[in-house]
Amino acid sequence: MSPFQHGEVFVTDDGAETDLDLGHYERFIETRMRKANNFTTGQIYKSVLEKSAVATTLAKPCRSSRMSPTKSRSSSNAGAGFETPDAVDVAIVEIGGTVGDIESLPFLEAVRQMSLRLGANNSAFVHLSYVPWIAAAGELKTKPTQHTAKQLREIGIQADVLLCRADRRIPSEEREKISLFSNVPEWGVISMWDVDTIYKVPRMLHEQGLDGLICDKLRLNTPPASLKRWDDLVYETEHPKTEVNIAMVGKYVDLSDSYKSLNEALRHAGMKNHAKVVIEYVDSETITPENVSRLAKFDGILVPGGFGVRGVEGKICAARFARENKVPYLGICLGMQVATIEFARHVAGLKGANSTEFEPASPHPVIALITEWKDTDGTIKTRDAKSDLGGTMRLGAQSSDVAKGTLAHKIYGDVVTERHRHRYEANVNYLDTLRKAGLVISALTQREQLTEIVELPQDVHPWFMGVQFHPEFKSTPWDGHPLFNAYIAAVLEHRATAGQDQQPTSKPLKVVA
Ligand code: GLN
Repeated sequence: MSPFQHGEVFVTDDGAETDLDLGHYERFIETRMRKANNFTTGQIYKSVLEKSAVATTLAKPCRSSRMSPTKSRSSSNAGAGFETPDAVDVAIVEIGGTVGDIESLPFLEAVRQMSLRLGANNSAFVHLSYVPWIAAAGELKTKPTQHTAKQLREIGIQADVLLCRADRRIPSEEREKISLFSNVPEWGVISMWDVDTIYKVPRMLHEQGLDGLICDKLRLNTPPASLKRWDDLVYETEHPKTEVNIAMVGKYVDLSDSYKSLNEALRHAGMKNHAKVVIEYVDSETITPENVSRLAKFDGILVPGGFGVRGVEGKICAARFARENKVPYLGICLGMQVATIEFARHVAGLKGANSTEFEPASPHPVIALITEWKDTDGTIKTRDAKSDLGGTMRLGAQSSDVAKGTLAHKIYGDVVTERHRHRYEANVNYLDTLRKAGLVISALTQREQLTEIVELPQDVHPWFMGVQFHPEFKSTPWDGHPLFNAYIAAVLEHRATAGQDQQPTSKPLKVVA
């Protein structure tokens, strides 16, 4: 999935690579999503083709709509994708795309059949539509909504609720019109206007009665909703005590959706620290050793995950700047790898150190595919990195022990369990050299010796850490994430002390230029 088309690729504990919407579900309903919670048209047709091969032998008909996993996973086995199947009261089935797309037709047909089997009071259809504001005419156009509701009815589905997205509130006159032509009672036509924080949405919907409507439809006997925790979040967002500026040094500078979970995790950590986190995207391709000092104005530097060589040298420059100037640094996945390369080159004296992803013939492949660094015949072989594209991704949640006395241990305790999505790893053959030069490997998987966390000793740098995994996927608005909470706390500390003369460290690092 290209981040240019899909935004972020969200990763579940069990290693599914999904659309970023699943991340919203995890954050909002605090339920862990799994592979079974996401399926694509391709998966369905694959299973249809497989089953139709069997059906041919058995001479039985086979239809895509009758075999949709929407039906088999969400209805008869409603909990298949959930942690505690028996405890599931309500299954939310979201069908992406637009009514009328050929891709979504089998899914819509499956939910139509599902609703018929479950009975009218065991299902509710919520249809999301768009109500555009035509600036030149100065009016909201309800036609697209009328049409999509009609098209849905042609498929056999009558919406119970229409959620109407618009850049502004939809006045009751327009809602009446929508109601009349979409066959949805007016109280089911709900206006969803743009808000500055997503955490205002639950109250927006509650005030228009959406929760009551759904609970009535499903005959759910629930106490009145308490929105206090959402209100608290909004309060926290709107009343920060201070502000911090983070430079996010990456490649997709104008596509903040590519780092959706990361942005959220930083904001959550901001709320925990009563600070507004202002993220500035810095295009790593524009960073050079000559101009890297422009990062001095930031309170923290973060290098996020990424693939491909473009802009990597700029990221390495940023990591060096953070290390040398004692700016709090968080490197995520590729961000850890560039911090390791930087340390190898400029502190450990490994000239030309690199990742084989960027320089297959590097004299010091400190980051490489496991198959490259595992060769034990004395030489560290390199090969065409492209040959493994798509095949060897380390995906999903994995655990490792955390070394006592490290910064990581203060954050995670004895064990870290986080989600992965990468192919390259810190090369085990270099770990001793890096350790001798002062790099702390604070978490290493026991069996494979895969480096999970690197950091600088706290008497050398106040807060410098690189993690091979993606902690951002597990952050929630209420608790934040311990790693991001600690990072933002360090960033605040740095902001408070910046400007004051920095004391020389007791153990200066040997720097090899
Ligand atoms: N490109 C690197 C790898 O494949 C890092 C991936 C990432 O940051 N998610 O290992």
